Amino acid sequence: MSAVSDFPSQPSDTPVSRALFERARAVTPGGVNSPVRAFGAVGGTPRFMASGRGPYLTDADGREYVDLVCSWGPMLLGHAHPAVVEAVSAAIARGTSFGTPGAGEVELAEEIVARVAPVEQVRLVTSGTEATMSAIRLARGFTGRTKIVKFAGCYHGHVDALLAAAGSGVATFGLPDTPGVTGAQAADTLVLPYNDLEAVRAAFAAHGGDIACVVTEAAAGNMGVVAPAPGFNAGLADLCREHGALFVSDEVMTGFRVSRAGWYGLEGVVPDLFTFGKVMGGGFPAAAFGGRADVMGRLAPAGPVYQAGTLSGNPVATAAGIATLRNATEAVYEHVDRASETLRTAVSEALAKEGVAHTVSHAGSMFSVFFTDRPVANYDEARAQESFRYSAFFHTMLDAGVYLPPSAFEAWFLSAAHDDAALDRILGALPQAARAAAQATG
Ligand SMILES: *Cc1c(COP(=O)(O)O)cnc(C)c1O
Repeated sequence: MSAVSDFPSQPSDTPVSRALFERARAVTPGGVNSPVRAFGAVGGTPRFMASGRGPYLTDADGREYVDLVCSWGPMLLGHAHPAVVEAVSAAIARGTSFGTPGAGEVELAEEIVARVAPVEQVRLVTSGTEATMSAIRLARGFTGRTKIVKFAGCYHGHVDALLAAAGSGVATFGLPDTPGVTGAQAADTLVLPYNDLEAVRAAFAAHGGDIACVVTEAAAGNMGVVAPAPGFNAGLADLCREHGALFVSDEVMTGFRVSRAGWYGLEGVVPDLFTFGKVMGGGFPAAAFGGRADVMGRLAPAGPVYQAGTLSGNPVATAAGIATLRNATEAVYEHVDRASETLRTAVSEALAKEGVAHTVSHAGSMFSVFFTDRPVANYDEARAQESFRYSAFFHTMLDAGVYLPPSAFEAWFLSAAHDDAALDRILGALPQAARAAAQATG
């Protein structure tokens, strides 16, 4: 294990990022195109990244970081993986968009169907948001019902009806509700506590005939990582079946990341519909929803539920997705699992050594650190952590060349490219970051 002094010493000032952020703020709200990127929760100047290779990112000031964000999940193979770069370059040379069907879409759909047994058909879209939005429309169209059940702290993209008590940036900034979502859009959304099957039972008892679907993250990763309690997802599937509602498992984050068949591959609970994104796009805007053929068959043009997209199934994005999935072998998942376990253990040891109350919570290889010693099973418990400690921890790691998610409510991601050298750099930085967390005041 390296000592802290082994790090390439880097100046803590980042003048190029600072200048870019200033320019960005003039022309873009908050200077970013997705809120958490602005470092609002941890303070300081967001790093403008210029390039990535394997487990490393290099910012506009030329500072290098071991990347534990991995573009929020997609980069399972690491940055600029040669097979992905080659597939994308070849696809671009053939033309970038046709607005017609193409072989790549068929191959990507076949890859997904082959990996996730209950998925009989998929429709490709361009973002996870679009995938969950469309899945919910389809569930409503299929059942003829209006209400949907979601869980506090789960994030399903910025779909109007799903922003109520959402995770991710909504959790990071502690937003109770979002202006711009009308009462009517939110009124049909029942928000329940995660991992509380009794609450779901009560909701079905009160509204059973009106509930079109229950949507949940297959394993929650947007309030920090909170795995479903044993039997929770299975209980949701049973209750939905019993009441004629659809069970929608949002695997945008977990899909093709925690196993070759996502969370489904680890747990085996069969939903009616899945949503996918992140890893399946290999760093490009590609996402999907899919599941039972009789449900998917209700989508236009096969059925009456409308859904469409100019760039859906884009040939460059599908090439990236196919190359990523084909190279996401069992060995990749084994490596990422092992690396995750090494890191989880090391983080916990470093924090324990400094007497910092913490819980390292994981779902497969995804994990995050809660600064509380109480177990975390839902959003209220996640929010009860001392997140001010995370800011100190985050900035010490950042100065040591480790890029963590700039929020205590986001998952940490590893890749197949995180080798011993990259892991050693992280492990070497931990003692100092743990000390900073211990000394932080709220
Ligand atoms: C990231 C994410 C989304 C939204 O995906 P985008 O591509 O950002 O729109 C939806 N659901 C889950 C579980 C996610 O993690």
